[in-house]
Amino acid sequence: RELGDISIKEIDQIAQSSFPLCMRHLFEKLREDHHLKHGGRMQFGLFLKGIGLKLDDALAFWKAEFSQKVGAERFDKEYAYSIRHNYGREGKRTDYTPYSCQKIISSSPGAGDHHGCPYRHFSEENLRAALGKMRLNNRAVEDVMDKVRSRHYQLACTLTFEAIHGTSCDAGINHPNQYFTDSQKYLQS
Ligand code: SF4
Repeated sequence: RELGDISIKEIDQIAQSSFPLCMRHLFEKLREDHHLKHGGRMQFGLFLKGIGLKLDDALAFWKAEFSQKVGAERFDKEYAYSIRHNYGREGKRTDYTPYSCQKIISSSPGAGDHHGCPYRHFSEENLRAALGKMRLNNRAVEDVMDKVRSRHYQLACTLTFEAIHGTSCDAGINHPNQYFTDSQKYLQS
């Protein structure tokens, strides 16, 4: 499979292997609630675009979830536009770029929002549970929590990447799409 071109069928598997925690969380909530608020749709939608999900596939992907909650008709009326917009097919036709870690870390998710950076925005308890689900061992979890306490969120994410992949990531993580690409490159090498 070529990097930079993914299909809907592959999303579950590549999420499991290569999504950073912020995107795993959004994906999980989308699956659970069949809905994400605006901030989550932007953060996750642009990430998916960045990893190579084409517009038609993106529309089908979001519709499959949202129509379970709001119905297909309301999806077409209220939500499809913003997805096309993200792909530069509506409005000013800007081709929007996926959000960097810095932008995500400095966002302020409110009640019911699932965007943001888990290392910055989760409670300690929720973050520990999420890292456990990613099968980090206790030692790695404590190392990550140390970085979180000193507010080095991207370093915490880098340590998570290293623990999961069993390799070093000297450049560090500065973008969710870079996390994804580095993971895929490593897994395919
Ligand atoms: Fe996502 Fe970046 Fe936070 Fe990692 S450091 S979880 S890639 S925002």
